[in-house]
Order: sequence, then C-alpha cells, then structure tokens
Amino acid sequence: MWLFDTLRGQKAELLIPRDRPLTLYVCGVTPYDTTHVGHAHTFLIFDVLIRYIRHCGGTVRYCQNTTDVDDPLFERAARDGIPWDELARRETEQFVKDCQALNLIPPDFFPKASEEIATMIPIIERLVELGHAYVRNGNVYFDVSTEPTYGAMARVDGYEALLALANERGNNPNDPLKDDPLDFVLWQRSRPGEPTWPSPWGRGRPGWHIECTAMATRYLGPQIDIHGGGRDLIFPHHPSEIVQTEPYTGKRPFVHFWVHGGLAWLDGQKMSKSLGNLVFIKDALQQHSADALRWYLLSFPYRDDFEYVRSDVPLAVQQVERLTAALAAQGDSKGEPLNAEPFYQTYFAALDNDLDTPKALAQIGALSNAILEAASSGYNVVGAQSALREMAHVFGFWAAA
Ligand SMILES: [Zn+2]
Repeated sequence: MWLFDTLRGQKAELLIPRDRPLTLYVCGVTPYDTTHVGHAHTFLIFDVLIRYIRHCGGTVRYCQNTTDVDDPLFERAARDGIPWDELARRETEQFVKDCQALNLIPPDFFPKASEEIATMIPIIERLVELGHAYVRNGNVYFDVSTEPTYGAMARVDGYEALLALANERGNNPNDPLKDDPLDFVLWQRSRPGEPTWPSPWGRGRPGWHIECTAMATRYLGPQIDIHGGGRDLIFPHHPSEIVQTEPYTGKRPFVHFWVHGGLAWLDGQKMSKSLGNLVFIKDALQQHSADALRWYLLSFPYRDDFEYVRSDVPLAVQQVERLTAALAAQGDSKGEPLNAEPFYQTYFAALDNDLDTPKALAQIGALSNAILEAASSGYNVVGAQSALREMAHVFGFWAAA
C-alpha cells in the first residue's frame, strides 16, 4: 500500500512483510483527562490500518505505551491532591474501557513508562558514553548539536523557528544547566511530590522522549516499520526519539514510516486540555453508538485537523443504520445477483492509497444503499452482503463483528 511518511514528506510504498510481523508503535496517552475524541481519532486511524494490513495477509506487532511519568500528569495530581499513581491507574482504566467500547484492537504490548525505568537508564548511559549527552548536577541532557538533522521532520525554517516550536510544546529554554536551549532532558531530578527512581546520576525521573525510545526498542526492536501518533508529536517528541535511538542502536533509520493524525477542534479552537474544551468518548457514547462515532471520526482525511461538530454526528448514525439494515436485508435467492464488485474494488483501492477513509466509507454507504434497493426489487443480495460485511469489518464496525 501507499502511505504518507511525515519525515520524507510524501507517500511511499509500504511493503507488507510476509515472513515476520509488521511492527507498529503508537505513542499512547498521558493518563489524565482521557479519552477525548482527538485521542479516539488517532487510535482509530491505526486500528483501521492494522485491520487493512491483516486483510492484505500481513500480521502486526503493535505496541502502545502509557506515558504515566510526565509533567502534566504530576501537575494534575498535585492540583487535585491525589497521588500521581492513583490518578494514572484510574485514568488508564477509563482509557482501556473507552477503547474496548470503540472496538479498538488492543495492543500486543501496553507498557507503562513507570515500569520501564530500568530499560531507559542503560540507553541514557550509552548516549553519555557516546558523547551525545552530558550530565549536569543530577540532570542528563541530549546535545542536539551532535545530530545535525535534528528536527527535520518539523519542516520549519531554521534554528529559531525550531526553538520557538519546542518552547510552545513544553521545552524550557531558560534552564541554566543546558548548553543549548534546544537540548532536551533525558534524566532530571524530581521536584517535590514527584516520583523518583535511583540512577547513576542520583535519584530522579526520565524525560518524556526517552520513555518512547526505551519502550519501542524493547518491544519492537531497533528498527520499526511504522511509528505513529497525533500531529502535535511531529516536533519535538518524534525527532527527539530519532536522535536518541539511532546512535544507541547504531541502526538507521529508526523508523520507516512516520504516520501522524490530525488534531481535533471544537467551536473553532484546537481541542486541548489547557483550554478545557474536550469532548470525552465516555460522554459521546452516552448519546451515540460506537459505530456512529467511528464512522464520524473516520469520515475526515486522517492527516487533516478536523472540527468536531456535534450536530453532524447524527448523519453518521443514519449511515450506520443503513449499513446494519443492508447486512440484514432479505432479497430473493432466486433473483439476479447484485454485483458489488465496483464498490469493493473502489473501497480497497481507497484504503491502499494512504488510507483514504472518507472515500472508503462512501463506498460502504453506496453499497448499503444499493443492497437495500436491490433487495426490495427482487435481486439476490447474498454475495453483495458478504462483500459489504468484509468492507465493514476492515473498518471495525461492531455491526460487522
Ligand atoms: Zn512517544
């Protein structure tokens, strides 16, 4: 299939391996205020991708982490006066429940950062030994000048633009211990109330980026076929993973395809925890079925940002109702068979072309309508229904489960 790789900035052919599982790592949630429709959108994209790869005869080894060692989680725990690990446990449970309700294929590996500290420390030690990182007063920083292509994925013009983007997304340029404001933390001393673990540099905790390097390489190996997440990870998170991982493993590229989903907007503003304009899956599921939410969220081109319009979801509800009715329709077994081939061909060609889910969904809709009409006009729809069921199954609809 053809898939867009963010690093190359273009579509490239993904050859589905036949002699081994394809490896997929998706950056998971920081377990607080989960799961909103933006998360659901990201994980749905990879869910359909996995189902499509399986349809093509491949198998997938899928790792999705939980970022339970991260500033925003600790800040929220402190604000609410509850232990960070209790907050993480509660929110991770809710996240898993939401994923199950949405019929998301569970990852083969679901590691928690807090349980992988021993995986991270040797990687940081090795980066120090190789001269890619330096130790300052109990902290360890990655020296970005040692990897001149750092941040290429962001496609911004020059160092200042890169630094501005990093600062927007959690970088602290004023840390006096850093040689360069763009250098990022691999290990840091914990603040009061935060968890600490022993390390060669004193007690502390890892930086965010090294967590994913450790979990991805531990569970999937030194090189990964597809690494994904939301578009907000295009910088600095994913480029930081690259520059840590490649010197450590000695293998380039770390990742063959970087795949990023668009972000959710609500009422003209980006949906974000800081603005508090979140639509939670558990709330949306009170109003609409999981299939309807699936249909709605996958009706947007996956790489584009999308505006969540509450009043548009009922349109997806109707589509799912037609799909369900078409799968159950009774035609005339002695009648002329309905030819589903054109719908089927167009559907799979759409998924093959960079996972064009809107176009594929349109085929599910069109074939559903054709079956309903043909069934009432005396056609035999059995073959068309099995094609439709297969198409709906690749989309993960409960209706086709
Ligand atoms: Zn990550």
